[in-house]
Amino acid sequence: MNVYSRSLSRLIDELSRLPGIGRKTAQRLAFYILDMPKDDVINLSNAILEAKNNLKYCNKCYNFTDSDLCNICSDETRDSSTICVVSDPKDVVAMEKTREYRGLYHVLHGVISPMDGIGPEDIKIKELLERINNNDIKEIILATNPDIEGEATAMYIAKLIKPFGIKVTRIAHGVPVGGDLEYTDSVTLSRALEGRREM
Ligand SMILES: [Zn+2]
Repeated sequence: MNVYSRSLSRLIDELSRLPGIGRKTAQRLAFYILDMPKDDVINLSNAILEAKNNLKYCNKCYNFTDSDLCNICSDETRDSSTICVVSDPKDVVAMEKTREYRGLYHVLHGVISPMDGIGPEDIKIKELLERINNNDIKEIILATNPDIEGEATAMYIAKLIKPFGIKVTRIAHGVPVGGDLEYTDSVTLSRALEGRREM
């Protein structure tokens, strides 16, 4: 017999589908939500819906944005001749936290991973080449994670960019091998960026 009523059970089920949320935490959150003032619950659920409905990819860098261009691409004080290539929008956040980088980004939305059936055409590589073709770019910084797929993706892109005669660099190994940009602290990430080497 289920100890929860149907709607409570559904709420716990949905919450426990989120990453890092186990059954116990989901239950705690569900009871917390039930204790919240109704207005707060409406705000929370609207925020989720609004983010999902309004967010789209930036026309230029494919980061998440509410409008056609993201805040970074539309900031004219940024150096538009440098593009930092990352695999995930979360990595843009990590890089921005360093407060060191003043160029633009390109979000691949994945890495090449033959094991998972993800080829170069499944991530935003073609779009990166188009950007390079149509803009005056001086440096491409490859900042995919230093794991097998991240390295392979960086190598693949470096090869494609070489003929353009643009400087291609790879962030240094300050980021632990097999590590995740997202979980790397800002100081380490700044050092990795500073110590980048030409490929
Ligand atoms: Zn953008």
